[in-house]
Amino acid sequence: MQHRIVILGAGYAGAIAAGRLARRLRGDAQITLVNAEPDFVERIRMHQLATGQDLPTRPLSEALAGTGATLRVARVTGVDVDRKLVTVADADGTDELGYDTLVYALGSSVAHHRVPGVAEHAHEVASRPGALRLRARLQELEAGARVVVVGGGLTGIEAATEIAESHEQLEVALVARRGFGDWLSPRGQRHLRKVFGRLGITVHEEVDVARVDATQLVTTDGARIPTDVTVWAAGFAAHPLASATSLTVSESGRIVVDETMRSVSHPEVYAVGDAALAPGPGAEPLRMSCAAGTPMAWQAADAIIARLTGGELPNMPLRFYGQCISLGRRDGLVQFVTADDRAKPSVLRGRFAARVKELVCRGAAYGVFHPTMYPARRRGRSSVSDRVTAAA
Ligand SMILES: Cc1cc2nc3c(=O)[nH]c(=O)nc-3n(C[C@H](O)[C@H](O)[C@H](O)COP(=O)(O)OP(=O)(O)OC[C@H]3O[C@@H](n4cnc5c(N)ncnc54)[C@H](O)[C@@H]3O)c2cc1C
Repeated sequence: MQHRIVILGAGYAGAIAAGRLARRLRGDAQITLVNAEPDFVERIRMHQLATGQDLPTRPLSEALAGTGATLRVARVTGVDVDRKLVTVADADGTDELGYDTLVYALGSSVAHHRVPGVAEHAHEVASRPGALRLRARLQELEAGARVVVVGGGLTGIEAATEIAESHEQLEVALVARRGFGDWLSPRGQRHLRKVFGRLGITVHEEVDVARVDATQLVTTDGARIPTDVTVWAAGFAAHPLASATSLTVSESGRIVVDETMRSVSHPEVYAVGDAALAPGPGAEPLRMSCAAGTPMAWQAADAIIARLTGGELPNMPLRFYGQCISLGRRDGLVQFVTADDRAKPSVLRGRFAARVKELVCRGAAYGVFHPTMYPARRRGRSSVSDRVTAAA
């Protein structure tokens, strides 16, 4: 029997891992990619979708075309890493998929941080359905309506600026738990404040939201911020399925992996993207991001291939180079960072930075459909089938 590789989730990380494995192992392994939707969702553009921009449809079948790999459009409902079985459900019912190697890439969703009222009253831009719901809601608002974005991180900043630019008639505010943009360089912070000023976005700094109601936010010190629409962008939470398995996961539910993206508890399981807690170049693990998820996927695929074929393990350093932040369609900020994601003094700003960010987004989607563009180490001499036969 051929070696069976099942990849769960076809976001940036899962789709790249699947495509790379499928192209490099063509015919030597049975590869199945499971995803809830038939299309690849450009999650880093969800704030654009929410503000009325249309994104191209990108069928996942094209990412696997000609490789012999199978795309299974279904919802993963269970993972049993002890029996090496995945349960999936679709319109026809449930099914079980056995695997020899599993790549877990189910991503993340918006983190509610157990704040009461978020689930009932807030919108989000972390998923396509959420972005489409917000889009419809923004379109029905009257001039002067208040939109409050909660979250002073990259997603909150991108969402607030995109909304303010595309819906000039609305009153947009952003609530940040810490100092506004305080992780950026002084130049970066100055530019951020300038753009927020130009777009008329009110910033509430060092404010912790304790409760979300339909018409107001209540802060931990009892203040009230009136709102007509709340957009919750206060971070991401890992997909919950991993925590229900015997895999070693972090407190936040991310699968703990080594430098090759292999689970520290189950050697036949790999995890990539937001679902994985992977060692970064400093003391901190890699931040949940597309910027980290893409090289994680390359690393995982190459490590799986190396282990199956007797090749050399990949040792690409996983590191950051910059934070590319869109500030609407006409402005942006590229904050250069150290390998461990701390701001350097240098930045790119304005229209040029917006163009760089657009190229980064296009490049990320291009990478999904061209998963072998980053070269791997030489493949080992023996094929997977030889190796499996030798092991039997
Ligand atoms: C608005 C916004 C802007 C962002 N901008 C940036 C940016 O500029 N730069 C950056 O680096 N990062 C950015 N990010 C973060 C980035 O989008 C994520 O880190 C990245 O998408 C993670 O990739 P992933 O493949 O791990 O997960 P995801 O992209 O979340 O993909 C997970 C996949 O799993 C599928 N799935 C989930 N559950 C199931 C299930 N039960 N069954 C079957 N399939 C399932 C989903 O349909 C999806 O296809 C942004 C995020 C948002 C929301």
